[in-house]
Amino acid sequence: MSDQHQDIRDAVRDLCRAYPDEYFRRIDAQRTYPEAFVDALTKAGWLAALIPQEYGGSGLGLAEASVIMEEINRSGGNAGACHGQMYNMGTLLRHGSEAQKRQWLPKIASGELRLQSMAVTEPTTGTDTTRIKTHAARKGDRYVVNGQKVWISRVQHSDLMILLARTTPLAEVKKKSEGMSIFLVDLRGAAERGLAVRPIPNMVNHETNELFFENFEIPQENLIGDEGLGFKYILDGLNAERTLIAAECIGDGRWFIDRVTAYVKDRVVFGRPIGQNQGVQFPIAEAHIEVEAADLMRWRACELFDAHYPCGAEANMAKYLAAKASWEAANACLQFHGGFGFADEYDVERKFRETRLYQVAPVSTNLILSHVAEHGLGLPRSF
Ligand SMILES: Cc1cc2nc3c(=O)[nH]c(=O)nc-3n(C[C@H](O)[C@H](O)[C@H](O)COP(=O)(O)OP(=O)(O)OC[C@H]3O[C@@H](n4cnc5c(N)ncnc54)[C@H](O)[C@@H]3O)c2cc1C
Repeated sequence: MSDQHQDIRDAVRDLCRAYPDEYFRRIDAQRTYPEAFVDALTKAGWLAALIPQEYGGSGLGLAEASVIMEEINRSGGNAGACHGQMYNMGTLLRHGSEAQKRQWLPKIASGELRLQSMAVTEPTTGTDTTRIKTHAARKGDRYVVNGQKVWISRVQHSDLMILLARTTPLAEVKKKSEGMSIFLVDLRGAAERGLAVRPIPNMVNHETNELFFENFEIPQENLIGDEGLGFKYILDGLNAERTLIAAECIGDGRWFIDRVTAYVKDRVVFGRPIGQNQGVQFPIAEAHIEVEAADLMRWRACELFDAHYPCGAEANMAKYLAAKASWEAANACLQFHGGFGFADEYDVERKFRETRLYQVAPVSTNLILSHVAEHGLGLPRSF
């Protein structure tokens, strides 16, 4: 671990200390947004880690960014409330024009504007993204969008959103991955312009929504990159997202292991600490081994990404291993807290729910296995 990483860890941990368990417990119970926490992270510049210095960010690498996310979750918080602000701008950074970058990135870096949302998933197509039905039709100097999205996170706490929509119908393209485009949507005042947002109450305190576009107009200058290449642009951004979420899971995993280790040393049943029983020790030791192994793959993905090498396999494998390890750690932590694990005041049940999400979103475990089988092992394509 470099000195810089340790400095980042210490500084993020220090900031998180002002937002202890009680803060996140209350926010979770009230199903509200951790506004004060996200503001503090923004003001300290942590969410602008990946924005180059010329656009007002700190120009750090993915490795450093991943340390920030890990420490938030390791401190008992949930980076899911704000991780989009760190990586959604990547599409704009990689594929936007210089004018677009100059217009938007400095404001995103300062936190004046939040770009926390990315709208890809649709209710009728799910993981089969190339079949999305939301359509953007070019009319003069605008695009007119009609369609529906689901599970779109942080829309109510964003000023801007990345939108994937079809600009050429599926039936008219040679390859199904063609004919989709990416837009930067200005969400300010969008309700009056044909975008309805319906919150989805869910298992985690995750602000996520259904979106309904009805003749919603987007100026042509908000198209990012070339029309028709949007799917490729989205895929380009996934490696950073996967790796950062792997780091969050590693933070969760370490939080669970710290908590359960302390608890089982202390809790006395049958006249001795429960942690003296190997039936208790082994699942915790196993989860610890898995978290540490996942961490190595996370560093490998970061190393390749920061050196501009392909890292699709490593980013996916890091996310897979880390989400699995944090889930194993969560299970052990809940199990060995016995009944107390179910009590809100221990925070185990909250973190348990939060880390479970990462088996499904932003990409489900099966889809990672399918990616590795097809691209890593050369097995026949299944869909
Ligand atoms: C809290 C939350 C926040 C989210 N935030 C966002 C967001 O901000 N933006 C966004 O665009 N999306 C978001 N999503 C959506 C998320 O990315 C999807 O839920 C996820 O990719 C799975 O898609 P699906 O729900 O449509 O499942 P489906 O595609 O319906 O799949 C259901 C299950 O079947 C499995 N499955 C499907 N096809 C196959 C196959 N061929 N082989 C094997 N197994 C298969 C999947 O692995 C999955 O477990 C969010 C979801 C949640 C729950």
